[in-house]
Amino acid sequence: MRSALDIAQSVRAGGSARAAVEATVAAVAARNEELNVFLHVDAEAALAEADAIDARVTAGEDPGILAGVPVAIKDNICQTGVPTTCSSKILDGWRPPYNATVIDRLRAAGAIPFGKTNLDEFAMGSSTENSAFGPTRNPLDPSRVPGGSSGGSAAAVAANMTPLSLGSDTGGSIRQPAALCGLVGVKPTYGLVSRYGLIAFASSLDQIGPFAHSVTDAALLLEAISGHDPLDSTSLPEPAPSLVAHVNDGVAGKRVAWVRELVEGADESVVASVEKAREALRDAGATIVELSIPELRLGLSAYYLIAPAEASSNLARYDGVRFGQRVDGEDVTAMMEATRTAGFGAEVKRRIMLGTYALSAGYFDAYYGQALKVRTLMIEAFSRAYGEADMLLGATTPSVAFEFGSKTKDPMAMYLSDVFTIPTNLAGDAAISVPVGTGEAGLPIGVQLLGPGRSEASLFAAARVLEKAEGRS
Ligand code: GLN
Repeated sequence: MRSALDIAQSVRAGGSARAAVEATVAAVAARNEELNVFLHVDAEAALAEADAIDARVTAGEDPGILAGVPVAIKDNICQTGVPTTCSSKILDGWRPPYNATVIDRLRAAGAIPFGKTNLDEFAMGSSTENSAFGPTRNPLDPSRVPGGSSGGSAAAVAANMTPLSLGSDTGGSIRQPAALCGLVGVKPTYGLVSRYGLIAFASSLDQIGPFAHSVTDAALLLEAISGHDPLDSTSLPEPAPSLVAHVNDGVAGKRVAWVRELVEGADESVVASVEKAREALRDAGATIVELSIPELRLGLSAYYLIAPAEASSNLARYDGVRFGQRVDGEDVTAMMEATRTAGFGAEVKRRIMLGTYALSAGYFDAYYGQALKVRTLMIEAFSRAYGEADMLLGATTPSVAFEFGSKTKDPMAMYLSDVFTIPTNLAGDAAISVPVGTGEAGLPIGVQLLGPGRSEASLFAAARVLEKAEGRS
C-alpha cells in the first residue's frame, strides 16, 4: 500500500484524495467481514471529506502534512455524531456530541478519520477477544490474535486498509498489537498527545498514539496529533515536536542499554531479534551498555492495582442514566445494577471489582497505596537508568501472535503479554515498537526502544536505523 507520506505529497501536489479513500473503501470491502476490523464505517462521509480536500488543493490551498490520508480510529475516541462503543454493549448506540482533540488535529493536518476500529472492551485486554462485538483476526494469520487492546487499529494498517491508525496505550495496547502485526507502534510521553475525548480507562496511564508501516509515517502522524491542548489538564505545555525532520539522525554516539529484565522469559526467537537489533545499533555507531533494572519486575503487580483502581472510578459513570444502554429495574439501584450487569463483559467486571477492593477503606494502604509507592520506585529506577544510557532496548512481547482462546481461560497468562510494555506507562515515558526478524510460523517480532519523557525524536531515529537494517527503506 502507498505510504502516508507518499499519499500526502501527491495530494498536496494535485493528486487525488478521493482515490486514496476509494482504495481504503475497496480494501475494507474485501476483508472486513473476515477480519472484523471495523465496527463502524461511513464511506460516503469519508469520500465527501476527500472531495473537500481535493477542492481545497484545486483552489490553491495546502490542506496539511497528512493531506488526503485515511486514518482508522480506535473506537474509544470520540467523534461528533459517530457511534462510539469502546466495544462495550453498555455504550452501544451512543453518539458523542463532541470531537476528541486528536480528531480535530487530524482534520487540521488534512487527514481523513476513517471508521471506528474494534478493541478489547474499554481497552482492557491483549488480544481483542474481550470485544462485545467479536474478536478481530490477525491479517497475517487469521487463526491468531492481532494483539490488543488496539487490535482493530493494528489490523486496519496490517491489512493495508488504511496507511495509518490511532490506538491508545495504557499498558501496551499500541506496542503489543504493533509487534504482533508487524507494524511500528508508539506510546508517546504522557501528556504529549491530548486525552480530551479519549474515553478514560486509567487516566494516569492512557495515551493516544500511532500505528504505521514505517517509522517516518508514524512520525508524521504523531507530529500532527501532539502538542499542548488547554482542554486536557495533563497536557504538556510545549507545541508538537519536530519528528519527521529527525528520523534519519541515526544513533552515532548514543548509549543504548541492553536491559536484562526486558528480555527475560521471552521466547528464544524474540531474544534473537533483540540481539539482532543490538548489533544493528552497534554497527550504526551506538555504544551498547548492559543494565539490570530489577524494579521493572514489579510493573505488572503495580499496574494491576493502579489501572483497575482508576478504571473502577472512571467506569462509575456508566449508570444507565447518562450514557448508552439502560435495563429497567423497580428502583434506581435495581436499574443501575441490571444495566451494569447486562452492559459490561467479564473482564471489565473483574477489573471494577479488583479496583473497588483495592481502593476500599480497609485495603487502600495495603494495595493501592502500596502500588503507588512501587510506581515511585520504578520512576526513580528509570531515571537512574537514563543517567547511564540514552535509551533502553528490549522485547515488546514475550512471543509472536498467539492462537485464539489460548489465554482466555487464564487472565494471568493474558496479563503477562504486557510484561515488557507496562513499566513505561507507569513512568509516563516514551517507547516505540519496531519489527525486527521473525519467529514461529514466520510471524513478526517487535523490538522495543524506551526513552525518557520527550525523547521521541531520538527513539524514532533509532527505530529508523533498525528498519533500514531490516531492509525496509
Ligand atoms: N493489556 C493491558 C490491560 O489489559 C493493557 C491495555 C491497554 O494498554 N489499554 O490492561
